[in-house]
Amino acid sequence: STPAAVASALAGGARRGLLIKGGAALETLGRVRTVAFDKTGTLTEGRPRVVDVVALDGTVDETLSKAAAVERGSSHPLGLAILEEAQSRALTVPNAFGGTAVPGKGVTARLKSGFVTVGSPRQAVEKGLLSPEVASRVSELEVTGNTVVIVSEGARLLGFVALRDTLRPDAAVGLERLRELGLRTVMLTGDNARAAAAVAAELGVEHSAELLPAAKLEAISGYRKDGPIAMVGDGVNDAPALAAASVGVAMSSGTDVALETADAALLRDRVGGVAELVVLSRATLSNIW
Ligand code: ADP
Ligand code: MG
Repeated sequence: STPAAVASALAGGARRGLLIKGGAALETLGRVRTVAFDKTGTLTEGRPRVVDVVALDGTVDETLSKAAAVERGSSHPLGLAILEEAQSRALTVPNAFGGTAVPGKGVTARLKSGFVTVGSPRQAVEKGLLSPEVASRVSELEVTGNTVVIVSEGARLLGFVALRDTLRPDAAVGLERLRELGLRTVMLTGDNARAAAAVAAELGVEHSAELLPAAKLEAISGYRKDGPIAMVGDGVNDAPALAAASVGVAMSSGTDVALETADAALLRDRVGGVAELVVLSRATLSNIW
């Protein structure tokens, strides 16, 4: 390949907010067959807002303030949203100690009153915390695209919090553009199956939900059998998948880990930038060969 063609493509990309870390990444982008996207923070803004807090035992304020206490040390977008909501309601957030996060599942910390967990409904079901009645209330919220997290203290089910994220304005168009280029698009998410299906339907994209980090990796290796795959993500939990893909693309607002692991980054977080990367790469390859 001619170094001049590659250098000029890298510079041209940079002018349009497409940062590519070198010629190898540039060339791989043009050969990609599948593009996999993380959902939260990649196809959505990644700034969920609390839309409802429901108490099942105790008060709404207790559910929210204890959830906020556990999330204080968390950098997860759901945690930040819960903390913000507690602050905007001027609640006193108790102290929490020894917080631990389990990627894809939730967080636990010790409060004066006991161990409090904020996590996925799936995890709560596994622990036998959700009655069929509560599980169906949770499902109803999820069907319309909400993410619900369960707040529990030991074996006591305090309540749940429903949150909602916004799609990035160019997500649907950005995915469509990739399909016009002949690529398969897929959304991979750790979020619940119902919320994921609602978002996927709005975007017209195939998807896999409730994936733990290891399952995201398996999905990537599966698609890789059909040819090179690009993975687009933003979070710490996306880093292994970005590394496992033939080429990793990070949202520039993403975490440092994602940006360091990725081979390319999209300034201004435009989903449409992925298709532009492919076009740029194909143009360079055709000049080279
Ligand atoms: P995504 O793939 O959409 O970025 P994650 O893998 O980060 O999602 O999280 C998957 C699920 O795990 C969340 O929808 C939530 O139910 C639960 N979860 C993860 N981290 C937290 C947290 N800090 N607080 C509450 N729930 C969490
Ligand atoms: Mg994410």
